[in-house]
Amino acid sequence: MTVFLVGAGPGDADLLTVRGARLLAAADVVVHDRLVERSVLELARRDAEFIDVGKEPGRFTSQSMINDLLVSLGRDYDTVVRLKGGDPFVFGRGGEEMIALREGGVASEVVPGVTSAFAGPLAAGIPVTHRGLSRGVMVVTGHIEGHDDGYFRRLANPDLSLVVLMGVGARASIAAELIDGGLTHDTPVAVIESAWTARQSVTRAVLRDLGSLNVASPAIIVIGACAALSVCDLMAETSALV
Ligand code: SAH
Repeated sequence: MTVFLVGAGPGDADLLTVRGARLLAAADVVVHDRLVERSVLELARRDAEFIDVGKEPGRFTSQSMINDLLVSLGRDYDTVVRLKGGDPFVFGRGGEEMIALREGGVASEVVPGVTSAFAGPLAAGIPVTHRGLSRGVMVVTGHIEGHDDGYFRRLANPDLSLVVLMGVGARASIAAELIDGGLTHDTPVAVIESAWTARQSVTRAVLRDLGSLNVASPAIIVIGACAALSVCDLMAETSALV
């Protein structure tokens, strides 16, 4: 009857909204991504049906298949929760799913989540805006479809923090383009892997060395003066000034 698009937050189940937790506890079916932590899924009923539509190599579920699945589940069940990591409308293709549900005549609602774009840096003690250091923040994807050489060149701005999601694979070219665009080699960077999970790790470096850091997805890359800050205690941190 209703499909609820719920933001699962960045990791730790305690960072889910109260509304999200209530809906999970009521759900007949939970459709989730690979990034959603087990602790969040455990908030659902034991007898709920769980469908993993996580996108990983070799087990590819296309977006149109997910859209069709949500429409048919929405017709068959009372309460369907579509759980998406972080916030559903930040690089989660949540907007596309909402449009598909509307076109399929299925009632839907969206519940915001704590996005990793902000909670990731925060987990490393990095405020993405800070008086005197950063006047704002740009949140962008590093996953570039096709060739868009020079995109990051145009984003070089020393007055702003740059937060890159899905940027691990392209980190070398992102750094090169930003330096080409005018950021200095020694601009601070921080990479936060698996924020708000037991696997969290934080690596600090400078822009010149971003390409050679040993880091893996999922990770948030923060670039700019704020990335050097650490204003609170950390869960785990390694210094990688190569
Ligand atoms: N809707 C999500 C983002 C989905 S795109 C949100 O609002 O957070 C997937 C990307 O998000 C990953 O490649 C990674 O860059 C980032 N990400 C999500 N969860 C993360 C986490 N716990 N730690 C670090 N990065 C994370």
